[in-house]
Amino acid sequence: MKICMVSEHASPLALLGGVDAGGQNVHVAALSSALARRGAQVVVHTRRDSPGPPRRVPLADGVEVDHVPAGPTRPVPKDDLPPYMRGFAADLRDQWARERPDVVHAHFWMSGKAALSAARPLGIPVVFTSHALGVVKRRHQGSKDTSPPDRVQTEATLVRDVDAIVATCTDELFELVRLGAPGSRVSVVPSGVDLAAFTPDGPVAPRAPGRLRVLFVGRLVERKGIGNLIEAVAALPGTELLIAGGSDRSELDQDPEAARLRRLARLSGAGDRVTLLGRVGRAELPALYRSADVVACVPWYEPFGIVPVEAMACGVPVVASAVGGLIDTVVDGGTGLHVPPRCPERIVEALSELAADPAERARLGAAGARRAQALFSWERVGALTMNVYRRLRDAPGQGVTRAGSRTGARRPVGTRP
Ligand code: UDP
Repeated sequence: MKICMVSEHASPLALLGGVDAGGQNVHVAALSSALARRGAQVVVHTRRDSPGPPRRVPLADGVEVDHVPAGPTRPVPKDDLPPYMRGFAADLRDQWARERPDVVHAHFWMSGKAALSAARPLGIPVVFTSHALGVVKRRHQGSKDTSPPDRVQTEATLVRDVDAIVATCTDELFELVRLGAPGSRVSVVPSGVDLAAFTPDGPVAPRAPGRLRVLFVGRLVERKGIGNLIEAVAALPGTELLIAGGSDRSELDQDPEAARLRRLARLSGAGDRVTLLGRVGRAELPALYRSADVVACVPWYEPFGIVPVEAMACGVPVVASAVGGLIDTVVDGGTGLHVPPRCPERIVEALSELAADPAERARLGAAGARRAQALFSWERVGALTMNVYRRLRDAPGQGVTRAGSRTGARRPVGTRP
């Protein structure tokens, strides 16, 4: 099967931890590789954001990254990309007219829009994964949401017009249906974890004895709740908090969010117990996870959340907000503890409970590793995703795409056909 992934801002080759480089990059890279291991030929189309690399770069056996020229050849914040997406889509259409993929899988709304406009005239089925819905972002971020104004409406149109949707968690399924997606076209397939690298056994990063080590891993953005976590750790003198993410450690001083977090730590009296590590490379992460007593993921909302799954795979209990994908991945009392979002008091309670009971931490950690192995291998994610593609290829009537068929024009709500 020939598969084209579209991931306009999130390149599988990017360094992770920056504002616009996180779970989507990991997901697209690992899913593409898993599909290639099942015999597919995969091309990942992403916007060229530096002049250096060649147009096509191999990522793994059977997977190539295609750098599509669209806009300046430098990093552009993803919310500023819409003016360049028409050119991006035109390039895809030219390529797909020359070499037709069996299926296109678009990641994030701008990719969805570009993929649909390029693939629909050619009769190629389009699968969409949102990675984050504008309607959810707006609900939680309000006036701080910098998304382009047409995002929510575009997503509402997209979820009705694509042939199939892969949601990464149950909560997203509900959001999609509320947005107008036909439930019959939505499959829930989680994101995954590299179970060869993220294991309970292996090297452990050095640590000082005597303190409970709490670890955060992720992009340094406000909605990840790192501020809430710092407040909680400040109230627990026997704990230290390591924060992995953001730019390289040497450049962290220029990062305004890092400065805000450091200030918060100082003001709350935990300046000497909170350490910002900056970006941590993939190869070093498993040892860092293993060195932690608890991994804390306490976002205000979270479309999926690969970090808690990585933590579980390394056998570490997770304190997680009961939001989004974390409701599916972390089992409250089974592989970690759930807390409400934006609630430092409840994070304090959860961390205190775990600090007082090493045996319970070990039980939760071991159960997390078993859960990660059973449910979140990329092999399983690849197989489930391939089933979605096969259904579209082999039973074409199920999606909406046939060459020359419906164009996505919709009948206004409440009118008869
Ligand atoms: N990550 C990393 N190094 C860092 C910070 C983050 O490799 O310094 C990775 C992390 O291990 C995870 C991804 O970035 O694989 C973040 O994904 P997640 O789904 O948790 O959050 P998102 O970025 O999608 O909001």
